[in-house]
Amino acid sequence: MSDWLEVTVTVDGEGAEAVADVLRRYAHQGLAIEHPLPAGEAWPGEPVPQENLIVRAYIPIDAQIQTTRRQIEQALYYLSRIDARIPAPTFRTVKEEDWAEAWKAHYHPIRVGQRLLIKPAWAQVEAKPGEVVIELDPGMAFGTGTHPTTQLCLMACEWIVRPYHSVLDLGTGSGILAIAAAKLGAMKVLARDIDELAVRAAQENVQRNGVTDRVTVQLGSLEGLLTSPRRFGLGLANITAPVIMDLARQGLQHVIWPGARFVFSGIIHDQADEVIAALAAARLDLIDRRQMGDWLMLITQRRYE
Ligand code: SAH
Repeated sequence: MSDWLEVTVTVDGEGAEAVADVLRRYAHQGLAIEHPLPAGEAWPGEPVPQENLIVRAYIPIDAQIQTTRRQIEQALYYLSRIDARIPAPTFRTVKEEDWAEAWKAHYHPIRVGQRLLIKPAWAQVEAKPGEVVIELDPGMAFGTGTHPTTQLCLMACEWIVRPYHSVLDLGTGSGILAIAAAKLGAMKVLARDIDELAVRAAQENVQRNGVTDRVTVQLGSLEGLLTSPRRFGLGLANITAPVIMDLARQGLQHVIWPGARFVFSGIIHDQADEVIAALAAARLDLIDRRQMGDWLMLITQRRYE
């Protein structure tokens, strides 16, 4: 694990969304727009004060960080040419040990779709009647609920999950989608990830949400599933386009029933054609697609033959 580059931009008005769109390309999960309100009172989609919003992103420091930093500066410079209220970003290095705490301070409850409430484990928030609460401590795992790909998949779960479904969540990260599927009524969920840290975080989150009877978390990917007679009623994979295409080449469709759906995200919109073609070749036909910012979610259905 590395140290982090913290990027902060304080923006008036609508500029915050534009700045967040730029930073999101680099800060896959560590991005927050802070409103000058206490935690738990500002919801996406609800009117918020439009002054002095703080957009803050955390980017892992790797060998490319100087290039990434220049790209961010350049992209924000172009934005400021369009909207003069957008100032230059400030940068700060945050040590790995301090990152989790720094991030916690900026990670607030989020409402997604019609009735999902993602609540950081340490936050106080009152659920509205009928809301499905998912309590999370993502730790170092991906899946806070702030990323557009996670939000798109959560919405798909709201539309698709039925009580008789047995669900496969490949690349579960923090366990967020698996827990959402269980809380939306799925009978059984199998959550897998190739990253041990994610498996540990997901297991803890499954316990925290009281769904251990229905959600099983395992280390791994498709191993064993392709040769097993078990079939799922719904598949979820919020991974990346190259991994999704690789899974399609391995015969991913065989793990769900003919006619069942498989939801994919983690796809940047200009990768869409390639991914859709790879999925169709695996007899997973596109039935719906949704986009949020640069990110795409594809809902596919396994062909009946
Ligand atoms: N499902 C969560 C996390 C997505 S991040 C959400 O929607 O927010 C993607 C996760 O996929 C990471 O935790 C990564 O470790 C895992 N992953 C990457 N390649 C994988 C593979 N081939 N099989 C299973 N998991 C994989």
